[in-house]
Formats: sequence, structure tokens, C-alpha cells
Amino acid sequence: MATVEQKPAATTNGQSTGIAVENPATGQVVGTVPNMEADAVKALVARARAAQPAWEALGFEGRGAVLKRAQKWVLDNKDRIIETIVSETGKTHEDAQIAEIGYAANAFGFWAKNAPEYLADERVKSASIFVKGRKLVQRFTSLGVIGVIGPWNYPLTNSFGDCIPALAAGNAVVLKPSEVTPLTSMLMAECLTECGLPDDVFLVATGDGATGSALIDEVDMIMFTGSTRTGKKVMARAADTITPVSLELGGKDPMIVLADADIERAANAAVYYSMQNGGQTCISIERVYVEQPVYHEFVGKVVEKTRALRQGDPSGGPGSVDVGAVTFPPQLEIVEDHVKDAVDHGAKILVGGHARSGAGRYYEPTVLVDVDHTMKCMTEETFGPTLPIMSVADSEEAIRLANDSPYGLGASVFGKDLARAEAIARRVEAGAVAVNDAQLYYVALELPFGGAKASGLGSRHGPGGIRKYCQTQALMVTRFAPKKDVQMFPYKPRTFKLLGGLLKLVYGRSKRR
Ligand code: NDP
Repeated sequence: MATVEQKPAATTNGQSTGIAVENPATGQVVGTVPNMEADAVKALVARARAAQPAWEALGFEGRGAVLKRAQKWVLDNKDRIIETIVSETGKTHEDAQIAEIGYAANAFGFWAKNAPEYLADERVKSASIFVKGRKLVQRFTSLGVIGVIGPWNYPLTNSFGDCIPALAAGNAVVLKPSEVTPLTSMLMAECLTECGLPDDVFLVATGDGATGSALIDEVDMIMFTGSTRTGKKVMARAADTITPVSLELGGKDPMIVLADADIERAANAAVYYSMQNGGQTCISIERVYVEQPVYHEFVGKVVEKTRALRQGDPSGGPGSVDVGAVTFPPQLEIVEDHVKDAVDHGAKILVGGHARSGAGRYYEPTVLVDVDHTMKCMTEETFGPTLPIMSVADSEEAIRLANDSPYGLGASVFGKDLARAEAIARRVEAGAVAVNDAQLYYVALELPFGGAKASGLGSRHGPGGIRKYCQTQALMVTRFAPKKDVQMFPYKPRTFKLLGGLLKLVYGRSKRR
């Protein structure tokens, strides 16, 4: 059985006893972690379960104090966290700072501040005549132990980030990070311990898919972020124990560029939001539809800006490269397959189009044109530094093609006529849509974020982003009441008639059209 360790086990003389964690930018092994089996996961959840009541009993103030200390810890230890993230993902220091440190620093404070309000008892008024005079309250209580399963693309934001509201709500958490990027999660366990989190309230279950699967069987709720394919398996497994799930899944985010758009801004946004983090972002721009009159101007600018990108090993520090490595080995094959499939079906490569040879794992920033929906690059999640651009006759064609997808995570519309651009944004089937922007809705933690269609179930952020970690309880308190209510036994024709008349009197008065 694998050992249950809560700190990274360093590699000894190259001998690894568990999962070797590789730096995708260099190919070097940077650590090893245990591959935990089902009985080890079970033991971990038992420890978390035992620790949870005391954590819940601390109340919002006590828990918030730990989270606020963690917020400071993240900023004080920023460089160490960035180094860890960069070493296991191969992303740039800039991507790690903005999208990971920036997220965590905000999130710790946000949930410490807002949990009390989002989870406060809510008095409810009812239109039902049967509960008149009774106190009705909606309340939220912690669920117990939350299992969080995360992906490799944002080990701090997407694996650990969901643990913060779960903890704020008074739950214990067992996190199963991706086997590719577990070191950041271990570091955050250290952070929480140093900030005064009681023992065992947050534990990390390192391991592969089987470890994640075992976790589902033991916990009271599963927060999963990852591919739609695995999300379906998670949901099926959770069905065995009727364990609630929240799923943040894949996407194929469209960008629509209208003829009146600021083409310079649209091109900058297209290049940044498709290539940032090496395109390995669930809400990356994955396909672009441009109204015909501005198509050539837009493509020209995108090509020029993409050619200027510097790609390589980010270990040279901030400012050394723009685009880092491909984190997950099989992802490189998917990107290659999508580009090849596009070319086989008639697409043209204007920039890039190849995996780079040598140390590390890289795919060149790539721009494709002459693409259509017979090609995988326009219909399946590529999750790499590629940008396929398609010319459309008008906005109606753009909307139809944007919605021609099983996914519905994010989307963006660029146009100067804001009323028109917003009207188009409202017709795109996606959980989040930006006008003259992209992705940034994700950092507004007050806004719910969750996918439509095959992109997910439930949401993170906003009130729903913490209430999902709670049992909702409906509480009714009756203070003044007769010895017997009119609807109680024995049933009599007279009371039947009386109640029928009452229903008609109360509900039958609304005007018919
Ligand atoms: P995967 O679905 O492959 O893996 C996600 C997590 O699930 C990993 O920790 C993985 O472990 C684990 N896992 C694998 N099999 C099982 C199983 N049978 N039961 C339980 N857990 C399992 O996703 P990736 O890690 O490849 O992440 C990329 C995907 O995540 C993309 O599709 C992306 O769009 C999506 N994503 C969605 C986001 C959103 O907010 N909607 C945000 C970020 C990413 P292991 O890695 O060890 O195999």
C-alpha cells in the first residue's frame, strides 16, 4: 500500500517510489509523490471526517482568520509558489503570476469576507395559505468531507481554488490533484498548516485516475474539474452512492469578430487568449468567426502578432518567453492530430504547425485558415496553442456556427456597436460571454462561472459557488397554532368543501387573459 504523505517526497538518486513529476519544459524529474490506492484514500477521508466538526465549530470568523492568513502567505511566498507551478507545468512566470497567484490571493480574501453573507440564514415568505404565520428559513450547513479532483492546467487556480470555498463553508477537504502536477497542492497544504488550519482538515490524495475514483466513494460531495470524458465517469461513479457532483468540464470557446470591431484590439485579444498558458485554458479562444469585410485585416494582424511570440523554456525567468511548454504528454498528440486533420481537409497553416524537437515538450503557436466544421480543430477541444480562423458572411452565420458545438463554456463577441454586440452575446449558448473581452469574467468571483451543455453542471464563484458545498435545510417554526389544523384527520365532507372554497378564494382571483 502506498504511504500517506502530506509533503512532497523528493526523488532519491533518481529512484522514484511513486509518481515521478516531470518538468515539461526540460524533461527533468522535479519530484515524486505516492500513488495512493483505495485503502489509503479511505484512511485519508476518515482523518478528514474526524477533524471536520471542530473546524466547523470555529464559525465563520475563526475559519476566515485562517483564510486571511493564507492570503498573506500566498503573497509572501509568491516566488516559491510560482517556481513550483512553473516547474511542474512548464508555463511562463507571467501566466503563473496572473492566472494563479492573482486568483488565489483574491479568492482567500473573497471567501473569508463573503462566506458569512452567502451562507447566512434567509427568511422566506410563502404564498401558501397553509403556512401563514409560520417562520420559514432557508439555511446552509456544511456537508462534511468534500472531495476535489482537479486538472493539470492550473494546479493552484483549478485544483486548489475550489477547496477555498469548501473550507470556508466549514467542510474538511481531500484534494486529488492531477498526477502530472501534484506539487503545488502539496505546497498549499504546507501553506494552510502554517496559517493555523487544524490538522487533517485539508489533505492531499496524490495519485492517478484510480485514486480519484476511490475518492468519489468516500466523500460527501465531489467537485470535479477536467475533461468532459472523465466528468461523465465521475458522475456515473457518484451515482452509486448518490454523492452530489459539481462538474467544470471542457470547452471549445468561439470568438466572433463583427465588421465594426476594433480590429487591433480583437487581434491582440485573439492571440493572447488563445496562446496564453500555451492555449491550455478551459476558456481559451479555440475558434474564431470573422465577418467577411474585416477578415483579411484581422488575419493579417493575428499572423504578425503570432509570429512575434517567443516560445521556450521559461526557467530564464519573467520576460524570457511568451509561450511555455505543453504540460500533459498526450495533449501534444491531440494538438498534432487536430492540425494534421485540418490540413488533410484543406486548411492552410499561416504560422507554426509543428511540434518542436529537442528537450522539453513544445508545439509552435499556430494559426490556421480555410477551416470549417468538418475539421476537428473547429469542433473538438484542442487545448493547445492553435487558432483556427473562419470567414463568415454575417453575424447570423457566426452565431449558428458558435452554437454548433456540444460545448458551451465561454465565448466572446467583438464589435463597437455595443447594443448589437451584446444582443449577439446573449444568443451564444455558453455559461459566460464577454463583449470586447475574453476570459476576464473568471476573475470576477462575484459572478457565477459554469458551463452550459457538455461543459459542466453547477458553477463556481458567487453565492452558488459556496452553497454547493452545503446541505440546504428548510426550517419551519410554528409558534401560534390551534390544537388541530383544519386539514387534519378526520376527513369530513364539510371541511373538504370549506378548503376547496378557500383555495378558490385565494388562488382563483388572478385575472384570466
Ligand atoms: P482529466 O479529465 O483527464 O483529469 C482531471 C482529473 O481527474 C485528474 O486529476 C485525473 O487524474 C482525474 N481522473 C482521471 N480519471 C478519473 C476517474 N475515472 N475518476 C476520478 N478522477 C479521475 O482532465 P485534464 O487533467 O486533462 O484537464 C484538462 C481538461 O480540464 C480540459 O478538458 C479542460 O477544458 C478542463 N478544464 C475545465 C475547467 C473548467 O472550469 N470548466 C478548468 C480547467 C480545465 P490524473 O491526471 O492523475 O489522471
